[in-house]
Amino acid sequence: MIENNYKNVIERIDNACRKAGRDRSEVRLIAVSKTKPADDIKQVYDMGQRIFGENKVQELCGKVPQLPEDIEWHLIGHLQQNKVKYLMENTAMIHSVDSFRLAETISKEAQKHNKVMPVLLEINVAEEESKFGIAASEAEEMVRQISALPGVEIRGFMTVAPFVDDPEENRWVFRELKQLCVDINNKNINNIKMNELSMGMTNDFEIAIEEGATFVRVGTAIFGERDYSKIGAM
Ligand SMILES: *Cc1c(COP(=O)(O)O)cnc(C)c1O
Repeated sequence: MIENNYKNVIERIDNACRKAGRDRSEVRLIAVSKTKPADDIKQVYDMGQRIFGENKVQELCGKVPQLPEDIEWHLIGHLQQNKVKYLMENTAMIHSVDSFRLAETISKEAQKHNKVMPVLLEINVAEEESKFGIAASEAEEMVRQISALPGVEIRGFMTVAPFVDDPEENRWVFRELKQLCVDINNKNINNIKMNELSMGMTNDFEIAIEEGATFVRVGTAIFGERDYSKIGAM
């Protein structure tokens, strides 16, 4: 089942790129494997997938030693400062930077490891109270402050769009995130150039691709529904 699901998602990404007139290499799939066991992840790995996304630090760190070393792990869920240190050795990118203090902590830990951590700033475009993220109106100031930190490199923005019945309802969210990125790039803040837009999930990734996503984060359409009861509070 997972194999067919995966093939289907790849096909849908191919088609969305074609429809949008975008080069297929501009869009990378993050297979979101939260709550799923290593066996499921290995099946998708064996089909050629190399980028996986996890929400929880503990879960990510638990899976890394069970799976091949050439997997690129992305942390996509809300991150607490006291857990940042566990990510330095095994995480390729953090998508969920939502405060200056968190960025500062990541920068400090990265410096201890002599590295620069690629990050995305999570923007709460739709201003949902239930969601984490920086308000769009505060994004520029946040980019200015965070871009001055030596241990992080801002690569772009991430958003979690609202849960809607018709994915078309989220088109404006993706369009606004892209425009925000273009506008801030044009200000040439500290010479940073942000190229990545992490947006689109199972329900709406095709629309996100049409609006400029460079990373789509897809879980359910690949791995099936998640059973949170099995794995405890995630
Ligand atoms: C769980 C999750 C996803 C994947 O969601 P699906 O609807 O299962 O594709 C993507 N992004 C974030 C931040 C998530 O927490």
